[in-house]
Amino acid sequence: MAEDDAGVVLLPQPFTPLADAEGQPRSRLVPYRPVLGACNLCPARCCRLHVKLSVLDAVHFAVTLGVPLFAGLRPVASEDPEHAFRLDRDPRVVPEDAPWPGTAELELLRRPDGGCHALVQVGEHERCGVYGARPSFCRTYPVAWRATKMEGGPKVIMCPVPYGVDPDEEARITADVARSIRLWGAHDALVAEWNAGPGPFTVEAFAAFAVPRAAEVLGVSAAQVLAQGNREQRLYDAMLEAKVVKPPRFQLVQAPARPFADLPITPLRPDE
Ligand code: SF4
Ligand code: SF4
Repeated sequence: MAEDDAGVVLLPQPFTPLADAEGQPRSRLVPYRPVLGACNLCPARCCRLHVKLSVLDAVHFAVTLGVPLFAGLRPVASEDPEHAFRLDRDPRVVPEDAPWPGTAELELLRRPDGGCHALVQVGEHERCGVYGARPSFCRTYPVAWRATKMEGGPKVIMCPVPYGVDPDEEARITADVARSIRLWGAHDALVAEWNAGPGPFTVEAFAAFAVPRAAEVLGVSAAQVLAQGNREQRLYDAMLEAKVVKPPRFQLVQAPARPFADLPITPLRPDE
């Protein structure tokens, strides 16, 4: 099995068997025969799970798709000792009568039926519509792994057939696991700094603190990720700046408020 710089090794499990390029098992004693291209046969079962993102995954997601931070995700209650960040109760995130632990993580938005909001319908098939932007969880699912200082893998495997890992797939997932370790390590460091800080612990303050740090690690610009205002407001700003339109001579009505771009205004209950 290949080992990368972070010492990542994929662990063969009964439902994620290692296979050769022709799909034959690489070890003799396997309970199930591997199926190559399992995802092509699957009704996107793992895209019904709750998917948490590191701040770095979130910035990569937003930059890749050209959308503000909260267009595709939202903060949800979490008490994870390493990943969760302090966040005051906010009625835009959680209903006022719902429990709130004072700490949160970022999670991909989900449709009312529980599917990821980024799933798209292609004929009779549901597929990831943001494949290049998908976060670490999606990149490394469903394989268990071990690295120099840690190990990981999904708590539950949703695959309907044994997910065969051929050498190309093994190399891809190994690199994605090493990337995931780097991103979550940077996430945990910036969360520790934030949690030890003086506050205020608002959504806006957290984004202003965490996004530029994440963007610097990724080597990307944070400007569009931290956009203020709704889509129409931002387009109008750009048209004004480009002199495509002239500013109104008289402001007859009060300018609308400029919310943090795409922050949810319909709060989720914790069990949704
Ligand atoms: S990883 Fe497994 S559950 Fe997810 S789409 Fe592929 S086969 Fe289905
Ligand atoms: S981002 Fe893509 S791969 Fe990940 S859960 Fe959503 S649809 Fe599935």
